[in-house]
Amino acid sequence: MQKNFLVPKEQLDIQDEYAKKVKTILSARYPDRKPKAYIHTYGCQGNVSDSERLKGLIVKMGYELVNTPKYADFVLYNTCAVREHAEDRVFGNVGTLKKYKTERRDMIIALCGCMMQQRHVAEKIKNSYPFVSLVFGTHVSHRLPEFVNRVLCTNKRVFDFTDSDGIIAEGLPVVRGDNENAFLPIMYGCDNFCSYCIVPYVRGRERSRNPRDIILEAINIIDGGAKLITLLGQNVNSYGKGTDTDFSDLLRLIDGLSGDFEFDFMTSHPKDCSKKLIDTLSQSSHYCRRLHLPVQSGSDRILKLMNRGYTRDEYLTLIDYAKNKIPDVSLTTDIIVGFPSETYEDFRKTLSLIEEVKYDSMFTFIYSPRKGTKAFYMDDHVSKEEKSKWFQELLAVQEKYKIRR
Ligand code: SF4
Repeated sequence: MQKNFLVPKEQLDIQDEYAKKVKTILSARYPDRKPKAYIHTYGCQGNVSDSERLKGLIVKMGYELVNTPKYADFVLYNTCAVREHAEDRVFGNVGTLKKYKTERRDMIIALCGCMMQQRHVAEKIKNSYPFVSLVFGTHVSHRLPEFVNRVLCTNKRVFDFTDSDGIIAEGLPVVRGDNENAFLPIMYGCDNFCSYCIVPYVRGRERSRNPRDIILEAINIIDGGAKLITLLGQNVNSYGKGTDTDFSDLLRLIDGLSGDFEFDFMTSHPKDCSKKLIDTLSQSSHYCRRLHLPVQSGSDRILKLMNRGYTRDEYLTLIDYAKNKIPDVSLTTDIIVGFPSETYEDFRKTLSLIEEVKYDSMFTFIYSPRKGTKAFYMDDHVSKEEKSKWFQELLAVQEKYKIRR
């Protein structure tokens, strides 16, 4: 039985009250104009979808959304922690906001998202970026009205990076970036703890939305003109664990909806991608016929160190099954090069797997150590130069197949 992660309606009603309070304060503070807000999103589709709900709360508080921080009264960066350079970019961009705050003392600069769920990062912001008024983590984003109200009323900085197994806040207002290509989150969090990945530490435990809430939102999205609905989760294949509706069942419900739309989903994990799922996709009328199945490496030794939970052969068997059942399926994947202790021989196994699968496209990365993950403490003797050389070799193979298929 899945634990109850739902935020009680009473708590969401309290946030509605805070939103009204903020609206009143802002209309007194800016009597001749609408207060303006700017939100910038880093990272994955999951973060883009979270930002659509944050925008809903921001508009509910009375702000008008603008597309530059320059004239904004409220600036929010929704951050990503998946790779080092993503974090470096955030620190750099936050620094550039200082000049605006110097010009306008009443401006509120806020940071949220995965990066801020890491205590050592939030502490760095607290100590080194005094012009940042508000920092909150991934488990409390539904409390944004309360936090803004506190900043406006006390003129003090607010920090909240409550750690928990995670929450599901249903019924939040959504401001979609694109009605034709709409994101539909179906679950949050991850229990896989791949040894290189920070996500389970910042996004909490796997929790699935109630199928009824998902179908209601899907119908709204289709009525809103969506041509493509992308179902989102850190590990969509484990949707519904501990409930009587698994991912295949949910896809059949979505497939039963009428309308001229296609559906896609990400991100899948090969160890939870079942033959039942492939069979369901092969019988679907709305499925987009794209399958993104991150393999990360072709070496069993590295897959074990990554704690991926499948072998090269098991992965290739799944791929063959998918190709047989869905002959026109377009296959994509993620590859990490230069994982700690990886040898050139391991890397060659990744190349040979790519030659065998012949992906339509790949998302390729050089391993980025993440503080707090198991891999961060593994010995890593491969030089940056060596890893870059392998990476170039990988791109050459990718080019070869991208053209052919
Ligand atoms: S499945 Fe692995 S890589 Fe993906 S979010 Fe979970 S821990 Fe990270």
